[in-house]
Amino acid sequence: MAECIVDEELAAAGHPADTIRSVSLTLGTISILRYGTEAQKKRHIPPRLAGEELAALAITEPQIGSDTSRMQTTATLKGDRWVINGQKRFITGGGLADHVTLFAITERGTHPHRGMSTFIVPMDHPGVRIKRQLDEVIMADWMDNALIEFDDVDIPRESLLGPLNGGYQVLMDELDTERVTYCMASLGGARRALEIAAEYSTKRVQFKQPIAMFEGVSFKLAEMYTYLDAARQLVYRTAKMIEAGAPAQRESAVTKLFTAEAVWKIVDHAMQVLGGIGYTTDFPIQAIFRNARLMRIGAGSDEIMKFLIAREILKEIKG
Ligand SMILES: Cc1cc2nc3c(=O)[nH]c(=O)nc-3n(C[C@H](O)[C@H](O)[C@H](O)COP(=O)(O)OP(=O)(O)OC[C@H]3O[C@@H](n4cnc5c(N)ncnc54)[C@H](O)[C@@H]3O)c2cc1C
Repeated sequence: MAECIVDEELAAAGHPADTIRSVSLTLGTISILRYGTEAQKKRHIPPRLAGEELAALAITEPQIGSDTSRMQTTATLKGDRWVINGQKRFITGGGLADHVTLFAITERGTHPHRGMSTFIVPMDHPGVRIKRQLDEVIMADWMDNALIEFDDVDIPRESLLGPLNGGYQVLMDELDTERVTYCMASLGGARRALEIAAEYSTKRVQFKQPIAMFEGVSFKLAEMYTYLDAARQLVYRTAKMIEAGAPAQRESAVTKLFTAEAVWKIVDHAMQVLGGIGYTTDFPIQAIFRNARLMRIGAGSDEIMKFLIAREILKEIKG
């Protein structure tokens, strides 16, 4: 809950470093808080809170996006060391991170959801290589995003995070949390767009009056505020459930789906209120617009959210 409030405020202030802070402390660290041993917590949490160690999250692969069950990265126990091989793509902050929280297959020949585990992997290992920085991603200019190769990366046995072959549950818990914090960061950006649009509408004069005097403009502001308020309440509801340790997969999917659509509508309205100047780099609306679009894809696409929600509804009916 506290992280949600911080995410909204920093994004609303247009703070450039917020994405990497949030990625490191939530995506990269939440699973250590939940599943880590005392030694892992002691080793990683204090330096991350102090900003002395950065973390990233490595789920996605070149061939594997929405369907994590087909993950190809493997971890094999050789003696007392895990050996990791594979590639991870789209890793936000991957080129800056000191460690990644990585998901890999540890038992083949069973359903991947029963043969997946989680690891804390140091990025300074000689077998770790940033294959490519993905500059073309539609995020703000300062964001790092990497395609990372893991080639015989041998790490101590104690690098396993959570139960062996229990990585699927770690992943699901991580995604539920990631989705709500991501929602709040996006809502912060949308709030900024609303504030800019509202102020602009009182200053821009057309037909001899501020454009805010036209219902075609002021009603857009009202709609933007309504979407923002509704989405924020939904995020708070789900954040409280997660904080209380209640199962929240359906609720976090509902929250992510609704917020992604709300943010998209808010930012689209903001662009419309500013007219042509909103499309230029004179105003940050165009950057917020690009980030808003990503919300409908990253951390599970709109379609995957609908799939998760529908699956839960049908599960209840079938019993
Ligand atoms: C900027 C950026 C940052 C990212 N950061 C990270 C990160 O830090 N760590 C990480 O691990 N990953 C990260 N990702 C990956 C992100 O989570 C994936 O892009 C996302 O899960 C979608 O996977 P995909 O891009 O491979 O699309 P695909 O899975 O290939 O999907 C393509 C299209 O098919 C649709 N589709 C797929 N399956 C179904 C289905 N069953 N029913 C209906 N439609 C379906 C999708 O909704 C989508 O529209 C990032 C991505 C981007 C672009």
